[in-house]
Amino acid sequence: MTDNDAAPGRILLVGIGPGDPAHMTARAREAIAEAEVVIGYEAYLKLIPELLEGKTVVGKAMTEELDRVEAAWQHARDGHVVALVSSGDAGVYGMAGPTYELLLQRGWAPASGDVAVEVVPGVTALSSCAALVGAPLTHDLCTVSLSDLLTPWPVIARRLEAAGRGDFVVAIYNPASKRRREHIRRAQEILLRYRAGETPVALVRSAYRQRQRVEHLRLDTLHEAEASMLTTVIVGSSATFRQAGLMVTPRGYTAKYADGAPVAGERRGQSLSLGLAEWPAALRAWLREQAQPSLAAAMQRFDVPWGSALAAVADEAAEPETPYRSSPIDPADLPRHLQECREWPRVQGVVHGAGGTRMVCSATGAGLRWEGDALVLGAGGGRVEVDWGRVAEAWALAGACQHCSLELVDAYGDALLSLERLAGAGRS
Ligand code: SAH
Repeated sequence: MTDNDAAPGRILLVGIGPGDPAHMTARAREAIAEAEVVIGYEAYLKLIPELLEGKTVVGKAMTEELDRVEAAWQHARDGHVVALVSSGDAGVYGMAGPTYELLLQRGWAPASGDVAVEVVPGVTALSSCAALVGAPLTHDLCTVSLSDLLTPWPVIARRLEAAGRGDFVVAIYNPASKRRREHIRRAQEILLRYRAGETPVALVRSAYRQRQRVEHLRLDTLHEAEASMLTTVIVGSSATFRQAGLMVTPRGYTAKYADGAPVAGERRGQSLSLGLAEWPAALRAWLREQAQPSLAAAMQRFDVPWGSALAAVADEAAEPETPYRSSPIDPADLPRHLQECREWPRVQGVVHGAGGTRMVCSATGAGLRWEGDALVLGAGGGRVEVDWGRVAEAWALAGACQHCSLELVDAYGDALLSLERLAGAGRS
C-alpha cells in the first residue's frame, strides 16, 4: 500500500490498445502493474485478466464515465495509485478528457501535489483498424464519432460535411449501437455528396480481439453493412483505391515521380510546383495560356477561394503578360475607392451567394450608397447589398478586355461583392 504521507496518489490514464496484449505498450502494462486500483468498463477489463490479479478492480455497474472518474479521484486522494483504463488510446474518445475536466473543476492542477496524473498513450482504433485493411490513412484524415449521447446531431453532420468537403479520409468511431441504426446511413448520405459511390470503405469490427471481422465495401453500399459499437468504419478519400483486397491511400508520389525520377517541373526535396509558395505562378502561367482568360475559371481550376485567386495576380508578382492584375486596397483607402465607383457612369454589382448563385444588378455609379451597415447598389427589385461587417479584404482588379472592378472579399476569401465598371455604357 502507498504510504499516505510519503507519496501522493496517482491517476494513470491507460490506453490498452485494441485488445490483443501484443498491441499494448510496455508502459501501459507497467502502469497497470503499478496500480493498486484498476477502474474501467467491464468489457475492457475482460481483455486484461492476467494484469488484474491482486488488485482492487472497480468495473461493475459503472456505465457513466464521470462515475469512474469520481471513483479514481477519491482513491487517488486517499493516496492510492489508480489506473483508469480506456480501450485504444485514453486520449482519443477516452477517459483522459473527462478526468482532466473533473479534476480541473475541483481546483486541481498538475503542480498541486496532492494527485499526480499521467496519460499513457495507446494504439487507437484508427491505427489498429487501418493496419488490418492495408494503408488507408497515409494521407490527411480525420475522425468523427457518430455518438449523439453528448454531441448534437447537427454538429456531427456539419463535421461530416466538412470532412467530405475537405476530401479527408474519414474514420468513423461509434458508428452504430442497438438504439442508433440510422446515423451511419445519414453519414453515408452526407459523404456521398462529395465522393463517388465506388469510394472504398472498410468496416473493422473488434480489431485484434477474438471476434475480429473485416469487411470491404463501397460508400454506396455502406448502409447494407452491419455496424456496431465494436466497429470502426474507414471511408476513403477521392484518391483511395482498393486492389488485391487492400485499401490504400496514395501519399502522392506518382504526382511527383515517374520511374524514380522527378517529373517535369518538379524537384526532389522541394515543394510541388503547386506548393504553398509556387501555385500562384502556376495559376498565372495557366491564365497566360488561355485564349480567353478568366480569373473566375482559374479560381475553379486551381480550387482556391476568390481572395486567393486575386492575390495570385497581385501587381508586384505578376509577369508583364499576365492578363489580370490586382492590387490590395488598404481598408483606410476604401471609402475613397468607393467614391470613385460612384463616379462611374454605370456599375454592375455582382453578389456571390452560397453554392455558386449570383445576383447581378446594374445601376448608375451614383446609386451606390450606404444603408445602415449595408453597402447597397440599385433600387427596388434590382438591388444588391452586402453586409459591411463581413468585408475583410478589398482588391482593385484590372483585367483582360478593359475589365476593371472593385472586389470585396470575406474573411474566408469568398467573394462578397464585385463592383464592375461597365465599359461603353456611359450614358445613364
Ligand atoms: N479510446 C478508444 C476509442 C473509444 S470510442 C480508441 O482510442 O480506440 C469507442 C469506439 O472505438 C468504438 O465504437 C469503435 O468505433 C472504436 N473501437 C475501439 N476499439 C476497437 C476495436 N478493437 N476494433 C474496432 N473498433 C474499435
